[in-house]
Amino acid sequence: MSAYPAAQFLLSAAETIQFPADEGAEVAIAGRSNAGKSSAINAITGRRALARTSKTPGRTRLLNFFQLASGRRLIDLPGYGYAEGPPPDRDHWARLIDALGRRASLKGLLLVVDARRGLLGGDEQLLGWAQGIGKPVHVLLSKSDRLKRTEAQALLAKSRLQLAQRASSQLFSAHAGVGIDEARALMDGWLS
Ligand code: GDP
Repeated sequence: MSAYPAAQFLLSAAETIQFPADEGAEVAIAGRSNAGKSSAINAITGRRALARTSKTPGRTRLLNFFQLASGRRLIDLPGYGYAEGPPPDRDHWARLIDALGRRASLKGLLLVVDARRGLLGGDEQLLGWAQGIGKPVHVLLSKSDRLKRTEAQALLAKSRLQLAQRASSQLFSAHAGVGIDEARALMDGWLS
């Protein structure tokens, strides 16, 4: 059974004017390129290829909005990190993110972090931004199937210490099906 059987791509926004009306509830998902964000979106929504749209040419640097259900949205933020380089227009990007942060419908952020790499610069920036706008963050420590059980537990404990009050966190593996229900339940809580 698909978790969001009616989930569908809504629109890509390059400008704030293209954002959907600030109504209902939405969750944004962010992460470094290759962290496993698309796999997480597909696993949590239960739609195997939903996030592929965000990776099509012309959309990788945009805010991609998905409609999960009526008045419920997921916003896929562009992957940051080594593959991207700085955004072509930092001011433009800053305005876009600023406008996103001011939306009343934005209830929280999921941050996908490759468990073996841990928090890197871009992740820290995102955590700082979320704190500044007062939105909760939940970290998915992804690809946890690549760690032994004891390693994964140690890493989770370390991440929780490191994140402290800034974010909650959990182990996650889209491939092995670890933590999917937990992540979905948390997201549903934000969206309800
Ligand atoms: P994105 O760039 O953050 O959207 O990441 P993707 O979801 O496209 O995944 C990047 C790479 O990591 C791909 O090669 C995936 O197959 C791999 N990957 C994603 N999730 C998992 C996982 O749960 N376990 C493992 N072992 N690999 C994963």
